[in-house]
Amino acid sequence: MTLSKASSVETHATGGTLFGLMSSLLDALDKPLLVADRSGRVLFANLHAQDALHWKDETEDVKPNLFRDVLHVDAKGLFGQLERGEQEVNLPMESIGGLARARIRWLPEPDWLVIFAEPAPLRAPVDQDQMRQTVNDLLQEREITYRNLLAAYLRLQEVNRQKTVFLGSAAHELKTPLAVMKGYYDLMLSGSLGHLTEKQRDILQESKQSCDRLVRLVSTFLNYTALESGKLVLQFQDNDILDCLNDVVIRWKEAFQRANVHLEASFGEDLPIFKFDYPKIQQCVTNLMDNALKHTPSGGRVTLEVRAHFWERRVSPVTPPKERRGARRPQANSVIVSVSDTGLGISAEYHQEIFEDFMRVDPSSSGMGLGLAITKRLIQAHHGKIWVDSEPGRGSSFKFLLPTKVEAYTYA
Ligand code: ADP
Repeated sequence: MTLSKASSVETHATGGTLFGLMSSLLDALDKPLLVADRSGRVLFANLHAQDALHWKDETEDVKPNLFRDVLHVDAKGLFGQLERGEQEVNLPMESIGGLARARIRWLPEPDWLVIFAEPAPLRAPVDQDQMRQTVNDLLQEREITYRNLLAAYLRLQEVNRQKTVFLGSAAHELKTPLAVMKGYYDLMLSGSLGHLTEKQRDILQESKQSCDRLVRLVSTFLNYTALESGKLVLQFQDNDILDCLNDVVIRWKEAFQRANVHLEASFGEDLPIFKFDYPKIQQCVTNLMDNALKHTPSGGRVTLEVRAHFWERRVSPVTPPKERRGARRPQANSVIVSVSDTGLGISAEYHQEIFEDFMRVDPSSSGMGLGLAITKRLIQAHHGKIWVDSEPGRGSSFKFLLPTKVEAYTYA
């Protein structure tokens, strides 16, 4: 096909010099550009278009037609779109340097079409390869990140295990000397080793209290490490919860009197004998009493309560709601124990966190932030649950539920 620059616009050029200038400018464009009339006759093709369409053959008589030879579309349809007001019609164009996109605009006054060819936004085979490559790269990166995270997690776990082992052996080493010290304090305070002056007795009493605190701390560490390493085995036996809690009250009476905090016990009736680990539940209540006393100012009150309770979630199988409404009173299947104080209270944002390991709301307060974490694990090991109701300035109420029926251990 022949499309020399001079002959490409045959009818509308207004002057040779101006036309020469124009076509040089259009040749300088870095994209193929075509101009055609309504019949599809190509009036102008810049150098890029001629190269891309291989219209170099000067001997060719037949003029290329835009619709037939380039776009392979029906002229009517295209003009229909443009005359309906579409600014630009985009069509795929395979003949220019592989897959391209033709952006077609209509100039109504001369009734010409101007076509810019540009690479299609997605060149399928190349882009698919590139995309596959990118996806592979991303997957590889993710794999590496995952492995690094896993390695970091395993390292942390190992460090955590070592910490637990260290804590456990340190606590174990302290246990015996502390027991010996405690024994001697008791012996001296009993007067068996000779008469004590008032001052000596006071000093010994204070030392014994410090020793008791250390014993509790060591016991906390031992419990924590046993729980952490999975070595703790609970002894489930038929026990009386009233006896269990009464013992705790008797043990704590004196400490509460010394702190001028009123201790009240309110125990419900018809409490069943059920299987639980007596010393471990005592330990839980002791932790709660210890906290209540620590956080309640002089003149305050702490109440220990226990009641039979119907724990709906633990009923298996679930009783249909209709039948439940009809029944007079659901049968208790658990006990609820609470330790309530009139102390400082805890703001809502800490209600979950205080049950986590080493968590203390006030870091300057005494304690290791382990008491509630251990209590929670022990209660959960009994298939129970623990939570707190509290408001700053209005005291706190720690409550835990223990299922009393074996079948109630299974979740509904
Ligand atoms: P710690 O042995 O340090 O007391 P705990 O796990 O027993 O640790 O308690 C965690 C934190 O919860 C405490 O540091 C304290 O801030 C808060 N807390 C626990 N019990 C009470 C309570 N009865 N009143 C106010 N704050 C409490």
